[in-house]
Amino acid sequence: MTYQNFSLKQLQEIDGAHHLHPFTDHKDLRAAGTRIITRADGPFIYDSEGNELLDGMAGLWCVNVGYGRHELAEAAYAQMKELPYYNSFFRCSTPTPVLLSRKLAEIAPAGVKQVFYGSSGSESNDTALRLVRHYWALEGKPEKTIIVSRRSAYHGSTVAGASLGGMAAMHSQLGAPVPGIVHAMAPYAFELSLPGESEHDFGVRAARSVEDAILEAGPQNVAAFIGEPVMGAGGVKIPPASYWPEIQRICRKYDVLLMLDEVITGYGRTGAWFAAQSMGIEPDTITTAKALTSGYQPLSALLVGDRIASTVIEKGGEFYHGYTYSGHPVACAVALANLEIIEKEGLIERVRDDTGPYFRKSLMERLAGHGIVGEVRTIGLMGAIEIVKDKETRERFPGDGAAAVVVRDHAIANGMMLRATGDTMILSPPLIWTRSTIDMAADRIAKALDLAE
Ligand code: PLP
Repeated sequence: MTYQNFSLKQLQEIDGAHHLHPFTDHKDLRAAGTRIITRADGPFIYDSEGNELLDGMAGLWCVNVGYGRHELAEAAYAQMKELPYYNSFFRCSTPTPVLLSRKLAEIAPAGVKQVFYGSSGSESNDTALRLVRHYWALEGKPEKTIIVSRRSAYHGSTVAGASLGGMAAMHSQLGAPVPGIVHAMAPYAFELSLPGESEHDFGVRAARSVEDAILEAGPQNVAAFIGEPVMGAGGVKIPPASYWPEIQRICRKYDVLLMLDEVITGYGRTGAWFAAQSMGIEPDTITTAKALTSGYQPLSALLVGDRIASTVIEKGGEFYHGYTYSGHPVACAVALANLEIIEKEGLIERVRDDTGPYFRKSLMERLAGHGIVGEVRTIGLMGAIEIVKDKETRERFPGDGAAAVVVRDHAIANGMMLRATGDTMILSPPLIWTRSTIDMAADRIAKALDLAE
């Protein structure tokens, strides 16, 4: 059965009848009709009606090497023919997770050399949560269970992921979140800095709210702090340079483990393999997924630092945790081929030295002065555009993000796929974008802003 035998209307009807989409209001979806994306190539995606869209989100922050990479399809095909599946349980493994683990240990920050696989970022954050609590129990401090996270954080959609995250809307539907998780302030200077407060001082104050949370819980009860180096789904919130060094100091002072969630920032997005390296953070765990395979296969990897790994290996016995698809051979084969492309094409260096700075310059010059833009911020190839009614006072339009949705819809109609989260437009393009792709994006977004003003 091929989809080409179905009209768009038929596909929409079937979709409406049977398919529950993630993060979707289904009444709204049925009224609007699903857009069916049928193919993609390089930086572009195409819908069933032949419309071409420049993909400003790399799918969902993941297609770092762009679309149409036959090497990745071939790696999957070759592995499927030879061995489509075998597990890594019961003293077995397959070759590709073994080799991928060595590769990840090579590119990870110093002192991070072990890998635990899953199929999604959410799963790997579940693993991380269990692992840090297990670690403290093995160290004879079983009372150290509390995890400090932050408001606006996104750590996934499983019960543990949503509990770790700081999205109020998700918490409100959670019923009973995982106990022992508290949330400090987000490092979001655009909305939370005080009048006259320097960026540096704001960063320190935001980090100290984590210290306050640790002190309130009692440091003897706190297992870890979890954070995205740059908050992604929460609105590309880029912390001031003072923030992470202060977090690091606080974690060391109270002997609190540092869990980094690099599901978005991992594998090149900030101009280094990991943001931990570009921002000088020394984590105990790093959650990664998405661009590990550039989204061509579902795969996540929790990178585990020496401190936790040595205790768990030496004292832990069996870790009663794992997924059927942990270390899936096909997904790992694709990851190896994907990392090879990133390296061979110098995509990380390109983001660091060329396209990242050009992206910033282009968005600043073309968009920051617009009448409904309150701020443009970027890091590597990640960007945010704050939509405001009043540039000076930063007053928002009424309707809780409705204005950003209008900008987004104009952008899509104008051939530019990007996302609105609250009052913030966000961009996270494939790392293959060139200067001319960046110019094309800036033009299309500028036009959408004009139409929305
Ligand atoms: N952590 C972060 C920072 C994410 O952005 C996401 C997904 O967007 C996740 C975790 C969850 O990953 P997944 O959707 O693969 O479960």
